[in-house]
Amino acid sequence: MINIRHRYCSGNRKKTRRPIKIFPMKQNENVDTSEIFKFESQSHDWWNRKGDFKPLHDINPVRVRYIDEHAGLCGKSVLDIGCGGGILSEAMAAVGAVVTGIDRGEAPLNAARHHLLESNLQINYLKATAESMTATHASRFDVVTCLEMLEHVPDPRSVVNACKALVKPGGDVIFATLNRNPKSFLLAIVGAEYLMRLIPIGTHTYSRFIKPAEISLWVRQAGMIVKDISGMHYNPVFRTCSLGGNLHINYLVYANRPKG
Ligand code: SAH
Repeated sequence: MINIRHRYCSGNRKKTRRPIKIFPMKQNENVDTSEIFKFESQSHDWWNRKGDFKPLHDINPVRVRYIDEHAGLCGKSVLDIGCGGGILSEAMAAVGAVVTGIDRGEAPLNAARHHLLESNLQINYLKATAESMTATHASRFDVVTCLEMLEHVPDPRSVVNACKALVKPGGDVIFATLNRNPKSFLLAIVGAEYLMRLIPIGTHTYSRFIKPAEISLWVRQAGMIVKDISGMHYNPVFRTCSLGGNLHINYLVYANRPKG
């Protein structure tokens, strides 16, 4: 911890010097700083439905319905990991969940906090990683969501383990990510980034995509049960999204931490 001393002003009161506490980045954090930088630099656009995050806005109603159907959101305490600008966090709060959103990027969190002024919802946004939260919030949440985030971290399995630690026994965890195969490479990277320019070039790294069998194994090894895996089929031309059995590109995973 580094103490930096600075002047602070408080109206007519005598000026005093107060230390600000700065916590330097931990060396072994499960964070890819270039990924964080990417999202930071796009943060002005989080709530622009025609901008860089258009696909997230388009698929959001289907994601929230899936979470609500499986985990039941009303009145539940929910942790949204990698919440970004709060697209999912807000939609869950709107159906009655008590949401805490965490992200490692400062700018997405600022966009998320700023948008609360417009939406009038209450969400607790914190700068944190899933792993860092386990020290203070173990077994605290009824539901943990981690959508479109695992493919941006160096060690996704560590995040899966942290989700298990953060959810209450008996609670539910929902993941969403991208499958790794030639079709997802062609559609999610070549098509979406280079041809259609749906999302900025470089948003995704193919090698970080995760096969359903891989995440299922990590979920089971963490001590949870995979209850459902569903494909999310997005049509960028008509901007529609539906669920189905085809897991080739985007998919959702519903897992449960057993009570015992
Ligand atoms: N979950 C949101 C946003 C997904 S974008 C949604 O689906 O709508 C991915 C987000 O994960 C970005 O905001 C990025 O800053 C965040 N992120 C990346 N690595 C992270 C980490 N290690 N810990 C917490 N957040 C992280």
